[in-house]
Amino acid sequence: MNTLARATDPPPAARTLLVTGASRGIGAAVARLAASPRHGGWDVLVNYTRDAAAAEAVAAEVRERGRRALVVQADVGDEAQVMAMFAALDAAVADGRLAPLRGLVNNAGVVDLPARVDEMSGARIERMFRINVFGSMWCAREAVKRMSTKQGLGGGTVGKGGSIVNLSSAASRLGSPGQYVDYAASKGAIDVFTLGLAREVATEGIRVNAVRPGIIETDIHASGGIPDRARQMAPAVPMQRAGSADEVAAAIVWLLSEEASYTTGAVLDVTGGR
Ligand code: NAP
Repeated sequence: MNTLARATDPPPAARTLLVTGASRGIGAAVARLAASPRHGGWDVLVNYTRDAAAAEAVAAEVRERGRRALVVQADVGDEAQVMAMFAALDAAVADGRLAPLRGLVNNAGVVDLPARVDEMSGARIERMFRINVFGSMWCAREAVKRMSTKQGLGGGTVGKGGSIVNLSSAASRLGSPGQYVDYAASKGAIDVFTLGLAREVATEGIRVNAVRPGIIETDIHASGGIPDRARQMAPAVPMQRAGSADEVAAAIVWLLSEEASYTTGAVLDVTGGR
């Protein structure tokens, strides 16, 4: 595990945002935007799995914006690694390298190659749900323990509230037949998890929402075997173009912010009308 912070970092912000899968794509855009003074200047825990250099580059951009960053490698599809990531966060909060956790963006997510359901291996379906669903639930559970204002949840400490944003997908409405129904189903689970958790912690200072991106220009399409998918799909979008990671990040950062103080249990489409 890699947990780098610099001695020259500025004093703690009032709050830390944990972004899973923040080394590129939408997660990296959220980390950059949330760190900017205009958007509240969050300290950011930058999580990644494989690309340490990319995660370090995102952390450097957070620091350039005057905030502090901690880079933590963890596969969110592995509960032990999620627990180790939160232990690293706790250690950083305890020794003053980061402010207390007040935000979580469950962004890490994967697709797979196009396939019909009758062609999918058990291992494929299990991986999809471990990363996209279980990972989000494990991270949310740990975040709630630290953010809830309810006595006794955080092992003796009472949290100051916070905001959780889960990454769903327009696939949860469309089903993605012949491509990745397993992915669409995992995002359907995220929609319901968002609603249920939002209602469960509504009196504990925690808001829980989801963003449902449509076709967004990121590397995820290459990992799904169709690198050119965003361009190919543009004519199917009412706005006739793919979206950018920054456009999705803007919605996420709004949901995290106090400007969204009465918004919880919402699933916000960022799809160009699709
Ligand atoms: P992306 O470009 O493929 O980036 C994925 C990020 O997640 C990377 O930082 C990657 O880290 C990290 N990651 C992958 N597996 C992980 C794991 N097991 N544990 C921790 N981190 C992991 O993806 P994206 O397009 O930005 O998508 C972000 C989220 O938006 C996903 O939940 C996705 O389902 C959702 N979404 C995207 C679109 C779209 O069109 N792009 C549409 C709808 C929904 P490494 O690089 O270090 O592996």
